[in-house]
Amino acid sequence: MKNKIIKINDSVPDVVLMPAEDFKMPELKIVVADDKEHVKYCRHDQVKIWKYHRTVQCANCGASVDPFEWLLNIANFQAGQVSQLKWLHNEVKWKTEEIESLDRKIRERKKQIKSL
Ligand SMILES: [Zn+2]
Repeated sequence: MKNKIIKINDSVPDVVLMPAEDFKMPELKIVVADDKEHVKYCRHDQVKIWKYHRTVQCANCGASVDPFEWLLNIANFQAGQVSQLKWLHNEVKWKTEEIESLDRKIRERKKQIKSL
């Protein structure tokens, strides 16, 4: 097919229109799959470790799991558990001291009542 030349004026170079069928789309080397509709919520609590392929896969939903992200989530979860355990330990200590104080007050009142 012959190229079409458009002449605008003498001060502007001619515009050459390429025939559409001569244009070849480049081949894509990487295709990004839109798998959003297949994504379901999963916490990936259990994983399978594939030694040969050196990959990690969720044992529940089958999704590929980033090993670093998975370990980081476990570490953060455990740090949160330890923090909560420390808080609970202190809470038990404070409540125990409060109970002991109340118990002392009750004994003192009982002594006062007996002395009357
Ligand atoms: Zn999962």
